[in-house]
Amino acid sequence: MQQNDPDITLITQDAPVSVANHGGRAKCLQRLVRLDLPVPVTVALSFDEVHRIATGETPEVARILAPFASEQLLCVRPSSEDPDWGGPGAVLNIGMNDARLEALGKRIGEKAAARLYVKFIQSYSTHVARLDPDIFDDLDMNAPNVVAQFLEAYEDEAEEPFPQERGQQLVGVLRSMARAWEGTTARLLRMAKGAPADAGLGLVVQSMVLGVGQGECGSGVLQLVNGDSGLPQITGRYLSQSQGRDALQTGAEALYLERDARGASLEEEAPEAFEQLKTHAAVMRIKLREEMQCEFAIDSGEVHILDGVRVQRTARAAVRIAVSLANDGIIPREEAVMRIEPRALNELLHRQIDPNTKRDVVGAGVAASPGAASGKIVFTAAEAQASAARGEACVLVRRETNPEDIRGMHAASAALTERGGITSHAAVIARGLGLPCVVGASQMRFQTRKRRLVAPDGRVFREGDVITVDGTNGQILAGEAPMVEAALDDAFQSLMNWADDVRDIDVRANADTPDDARTALNFKAQGIGLCRTEHMFFEADRLTAIREMIFADGSEDRRAALQQILPLQRNSIAELFRIMEGRPVCVRLFDPPLHEFLPTDRAGLRDLAEALNLPLSDVTRRVEALGEYNPMLGMRGVRLGITVPEIYDMQARAIFEAMLMVTEDGAPIMPEIMIPLVSAKREVELVKTRIDAVAAAVRTEKGRDFDYRLGVMVETPRAALRAEDIAPHCDFFSFGTNDLTQMTYGLSRDDAGRFMSPYVQQGVFPEDPFHTLDREGVGELLRLGAERGRKARPELTLSVCGEHGGSPESIAFCREIGMNYVSCSPFRVPVARLAAAQFAI
Ligand code: PEP
Ligand code: MG
Repeated sequence: MQQNDPDITLITQDAPVSVANHGGRAKCLQRLVRLDLPVPVTVALSFDEVHRIATGETPEVARILAPFASEQLLCVRPSSEDPDWGGPGAVLNIGMNDARLEALGKRIGEKAAARLYVKFIQSYSTHVARLDPDIFDDLDMNAPNVVAQFLEAYEDEAEEPFPQERGQQLVGVLRSMARAWEGTTARLLRMAKGAPADAGLGLVVQSMVLGVGQGECGSGVLQLVNGDSGLPQITGRYLSQSQGRDALQTGAEALYLERDARGASLEEEAPEAFEQLKTHAAVMRIKLREEMQCEFAIDSGEVHILDGVRVQRTARAAVRIAVSLANDGIIPREEAVMRIEPRALNELLHRQIDPNTKRDVVGAGVAASPGAASGKIVFTAAEAQASAARGEACVLVRRETNPEDIRGMHAASAALTERGGITSHAAVIARGLGLPCVVGASQMRFQTRKRRLVAPDGRVFREGDVITVDGTNGQILAGEAPMVEAALDDAFQSLMNWADDVRDIDVRANADTPDDARTALNFKAQGIGLCRTEHMFFEADRLTAIREMIFADGSEDRRAALQQILPLQRNSIAELFRIMEGRPVCVRLFDPPLHEFLPTDRAGLRDLAEALNLPLSDVTRRVEALGEYNPMLGMRGVRLGITVPEIYDMQARAIFEAMLMVTEDGAPIMPEIMIPLVSAKREVELVKTRIDAVAAAVRTEKGRDFDYRLGVMVETPRAALRAEDIAPHCDFFSFGTNDLTQMTYGLSRDDAGRFMSPYVQQGVFPEDPFHTLDREGVGELLRLGAERGRKARPELTLSVCGEHGGSPESIAFCREIGMNYVSCSPFRVPVARLAAAQFAI
């Protein structure tokens, strides 16, 4: 064999030919050989070579076999680009035949040699000759003539004798592995794991280290860290007199590696080999710049390294490993930052179902808010509160949620709804609370009146039954699942600090309550980018005040009702200012249609009539009068501010007074006030005039001067298109991509969950546009809005505060078009910080 054949390459220390097209295993072995580790002789076959073999070309066996002694047994292992894509299983002991049986019998004992031969016959007949595996079922493994029996069974079934020639066996093995890779099922399986359709397979042919024989012989795997925690810990298994991955089979009487209270260990049985292995593994960690699992074999006490693969790890272990590699100077900090998939941080920020748990899945929906929790089913917010009062964890199950459910969501451990998508009410609130939540689980039947939840397989769950909601992947499980806790440890903090060092776009949080703000600060948000003030009024006592305002007769009454609300609003905003300690806080004026604050059922209407001292018929009539055919496109946002201007007046005053209260003893604050749902510049002019008047009045009353920044939410297509008209009247734009997506597609954000799956499955939308920003359509409006806004006002601050603000792909786009910051739910802040850093590196 020529050493520099690009398709059939002998792996040597100074091999001049790259093994770039021979797969990950070949590449790794090449590096191990260069590190002078004891790797058996290896020949690597390229993707092209293996493809040719799959299509019927006969491999050039003589060239492949050239480096191996004629008696040498061989193994063939797959070498795909990424080991996670899978591949055909390894075939060991190629070259076993009648003559080798005799020779080997003398060396390692007849029984052991017979076992190797029999194993090879079995594996060859299933993988290469494609015979039914059960043809050997009745044979007695302990019979003295076991080999003869196996050979006979093979010959009977295959209608030819078992091949004796090593080259012929090797051709069969190579061909079967090459074809297995190109089969349709295998292709679909690996594509599901992210492999491209044309992913190639390389193969490595290696000298067999028997792991069976005299002295200490065996095989196993070793790694230097725990794959769950990422902490240093020598783990792995070793089995004497074994080959391949025998030590990992369940039931195998394998040894632990380090001295271990649980049982015998390699450290005690073969201390020298153990020490050598540790040294080799440490070299691999440093030189391959990664925590590796090393596959090894021991032959008469001598250690051989057969392969190295990246240690399998949980997200929390991945963070710790990357940080400790950087702390040890093995990789630069920026590389540690690049190694963590931002979304994987969700696993650290929330409790999760223990990854080793068997899941009893009974339903699925949209993964609306990450984390997992178990609890007894309750069907109303009141029951959730009662349950919390008893100290019992509960899952709030609703067809959909409305503002009245927020109290229940606060009390519950998780929420599950039948309707809704990623920006539905339940989803937005749950993300803000850090509450695990699945929405749009429409294949389950929500019989809330009967207090039943019926799974697609017919299982019925009643009030009080325990279920588990996994908001990270959208699954509903029967019963209580074991959990692993959130892990905001020192490794996480280091990684995030390194990310902040390189990041070039700011990250703020959407926060409405003191708890939200504290979470935001804890995750190092640089300010609040969106405070939805309506969310400050969902608590029972405050709801009544708002309802009185809605039912006020005329402007005077309304002003009086608003006077009651003013101190509540002022205190809530002051609290946010205090918590954020001088960081910017952007307060959005009232946005939702007023009727959202009104009860929907008869009992609620009766309670309201009582509270307002009005006849029930009166209340019912007025609630009906406030109803709209299409409330999301009706009297909401700035339209409310124009038609009932006293509401925004009150809010502006509350903001200014709160700012003056807090700055008396704290850091200076520049309040930011934002107007929602603008579509015309005149709306901004009208609102601005009134806010300026309120500011002037407060200045006079308090005898203090102050300034404020006014912003516009760009969330209607028209506002984006007319950005040049609007920008001169304000200091900043914040793109509300939830509404902007809704209006650009003409797609209800609350109902899209019902048909989003078929739409995505059939490729109508590449992804849920409420989840991942639609660059082509909605993105075009963002780009236009940003360009036109900055044209009129170059210093205009730009940001996104829709749910997309926390999605890595959207952050990339926001950077591209020159936004100053993104704002997202507090629990998504770390993901956004890391993603933003990765785009800057
Ligand atoms: C938006 O529309 O993107 C937004 C942030 O506002 P809301 O979700 O409150 O409508
Ligand atoms: Mg909006």
